[in-house]
Amino acid sequence: MLFLKQRFSIIGIARSGLAAAEKIKKAGGYVFLSDSKKKESIPESASLETLYDCEFGGNTEKVLDTDYIILSPGVPQSIPIVRKAMDRGLPVMSEIEFAYQIMNKKSKVIAVTGSNGKSTTVSLIYHLLKTAGYKTLLAGNIGDAFSSFDIENEYDWIVLELSSFQLELIKDFMPDIAVLTNISPDHLNRYNSYDDYILAKFNIFKNQTKKQKAILFADDIMIKKYRHLIKAKIEEFSLINCTDAYYKKEENILCVKGKEIFLTDTQLKGPHNYCNIMSALLAVDEVKIDDNTLTRGLKTFHALEHRLEHVDTIKGISFINDSKATNTDSVRNALLSFDKPIHIILGGSEKGEDYSVLIDLLKNHAQKTYLIGETKEKMINSFQNKIVYESFADLETAMRKAFAESTKGDYIVLSPACASFDMFQNFEHRGQVFKEIVKKLKDENS
Ligand code: ADP
Repeated sequence: MLFLKQRFSIIGIARSGLAAAEKIKKAGGYVFLSDSKKKESIPESASLETLYDCEFGGNTEKVLDTDYIILSPGVPQSIPIVRKAMDRGLPVMSEIEFAYQIMNKKSKVIAVTGSNGKSTTVSLIYHLLKTAGYKTLLAGNIGDAFSSFDIENEYDWIVLELSSFQLELIKDFMPDIAVLTNISPDHLNRYNSYDDYILAKFNIFKNQTKKQKAILFADDIMIKKYRHLIKAKIEEFSLINCTDAYYKKEENILCVKGKEIFLTDTQLKGPHNYCNIMSALLAVDEVKIDDNTLTRGLKTFHALEHRLEHVDTIKGISFINDSKATNTDSVRNALLSFDKPIHIILGGSEKGEDYSVLIDLLKNHAQKTYLIGETKEKMINSFQNKIVYESFADLETAMRKAFAESTKGDYIVLSPACASFDMFQNFEHRGQVFKEIVKKLKDENS
């Protein structure tokens, strides 16, 4: 491919940039890698130097001696070298755009973005397509970089999870089906305004025409504000009422393009996940999948690890790992996801949130709140005399007390509303520790 035989400067040495570099080198093109990090802090720097021309500890003008620049998603466009490149008219693209340029255009693309729900939605879409026997690839923000796969070959479907960073610097990228799950303030340190962040997400629709499909959450005011910018055929999902897909609360079903989906046929819990199911089903609506296969796909899809993940049931008491819930919005979702009030474990490292927003929800949807971690005192200040709570030295003591106070049919849910760095390496580690304690309790009680 002629495009790949040219000169590329890649700014930001990380997974996606290196995946692009490998493709270019293999095809006979030239790669220059540039990173502001010092050589010592890039673990693979020595081996990279044997493969490519590199510079570390800053981005010099050498970057500009090229045909194309690929910018890693972690690097903002506002850095001086990128501004200079743009002023000179050099093409600057994201790794997603690069991969789109080299992929087999017979493959069809479903792309998903949004503030929340991306990983769950793409994983479900991928699972449904795989269950139906399609040759399918899952890439982007989840798993491996788009360029790291054999995308020169034809796939039936490529499913991409895209962050707003990855959607910056899109030129020709045009998904056949684009999903915007929802919008809430996030990454505001990288954007000048909330509207700028939303418009980066709307880039997913930028090149779509009437021949492509855009799937939107109809209840989201910010999506409503900008939907006039979309040229593609719009299909909408909603928790209230809507023509294409909506939730019928009284009957506990989802209606998607006239088809009824029984929520008992899925293991995903909570209204936020009903939205993810509806958008996934709209995404595959025009793909040939018979009803039995679709139901089988829904039934066999498990919640992703650390997101309302059912770990085990001991003496009829269910343990749920929602360690990914690092803010109050996610805890709200968790509290609304069960058929009875839960035993909830809250607390972790401080992110500056106001926990009093949870008081009414905890009153109505939690039997008791078990507090742990650095935020304990701040939470006690918010919750004092308003809800039933108790504080604990660590996760295990809290879980043991919750278990002792639960009866058959109860749920013990770790949904901390906080980051994990006070006691754990990250939210995955916190979830793993939770699961290990569940295993210990199981062994002790069998
Ligand atoms: P992402 O990949 O966008 O971070 P995930 O699917 O990993 O999304 O879900 C992360 C958290 O976001 C979940 O734990 C849940 O609390 C919340 N969430 C998931 N789906 C939605 C949704 N459709 N609307 C609002 N919040 C959601």
